[in-house]
Amino acid sequence: MRCKLAVVPAEGEQYVIEEVELADLRPDEARVKIKTCSICHSDIHSQMGEHGHFEGSATGGHEAAGVVTEIGSEVTYVQPGDRVICCLVKAGCGKCYECLMGRPYMCLTNGPMQFKLPSPYRRSGGDVPTQLPGAFTGFAEYANVSENNLVKLDEGVPYEVGSIIGCAVISGFMGLLHRARLQPFESLAVIGCGGVGMSAIQGGRFMGAFPIIAVDVDDSKLQRAKGFGADQTVNAKSGDVVAAVKRICPGGVDHAVVCVAGPGIKRQALDMLHPTGRLTCIGHGTYESEMLHDFSAMDFFGGRTLTGSGMGATNTRLDIPRLMALYRAGLLKVEEMIDGRYPLERINEAIDSALHAGALKNVIVFD
Ligand SMILES: [Zn+2]
Ligand SMILES: [Zn+2]
Repeated sequence: MRCKLAVVPAEGEQYVIEEVELADLRPDEARVKIKTCSICHSDIHSQMGEHGHFEGSATGGHEAAGVVTEIGSEVTYVQPGDRVICCLVKAGCGKCYECLMGRPYMCLTNGPMQFKLPSPYRRSGGDVPTQLPGAFTGFAEYANVSENNLVKLDEGVPYEVGSIIGCAVISGFMGLLHRARLQPFESLAVIGCGGVGMSAIQGGRFMGAFPIIAVDVDDSKLQRAKGFGADQTVNAKSGDVVAAVKRICPGGVDHAVVCVAGPGIKRQALDMLHPTGRLTCIGHGTYESEMLHDFSAMDFFGGRTLTGSGMGATNTRLDIPRLMALYRAGLLKVEEMIDGRYPLERINEAIDSALHAGALKNVIVFD
């Protein structure tokens, strides 16, 4: 079928909107008419080649939600007309060792997350762009999505909320639950207050963290962090951030969760920790740019732990419905993260505002 697609003609270039041909469905795929796709900082890193270089043209967008219009011959989870979240984390088969151990995101049958795969779109002239998010493309009118990447969107949950839950919220909130494994009354510093950081703050609040200290370089984000549940804020530009955190929690915090890229920030976060504390790394640049050179074994002799969290170690069809239930109960703030809504034609403006104007979440909205 023909549809509209946002294409990056070459690495680092701006998006252009084109009419392209979308391939027929594979047996395991559903066709999703995209309703909303929010912009994630990792979309911008990918477009610039900062999550690995790519040749030729590319497509992006992975925080998508929409409605199923057609299904492949083997699809059983959804029907045409179902509202869905498209999530990069796959649902498991339910039968393999990893699924039985409660790690469906590592399912041996459905395979790990993969990035930079050939897209199902063909441009006029025959060029097939690289699909930067791997599993599907959200900056398009229609996408072919494996049913493993779908989670049904509950009644009463708007598409744009589903978009944001499917990446930013699971990364922050579920990262705290599954990887930081925070306990009530433990103290928490969240470093980096974008969509993921605000979700980590909300996860901390829900799990009983106290106090929650938001750390960022942007005062307006710190102000907003209080609305998501932060008790205290520290501007990392105004002096010694480690000392500032330790003034609030003498001896250091139980948890530091880093929601931005950069190895220096991970080192600072480690220094904020109590000798028994736990550092959870979520935000990242490239493999090379995240090399940690200046940690000593001695940093861990008090019992500190260092862990990481890729998209919250999320069990999508268990955890996303839980988050949607919290949203419907008024216990998860998602719309409060949205700063702008843009049609696909204005995608470059939406990206620019996320990059330079401090927007937490901008959403591409289709008619
Ligand atoms: Zn994302
Ligand atoms: Zn499995």
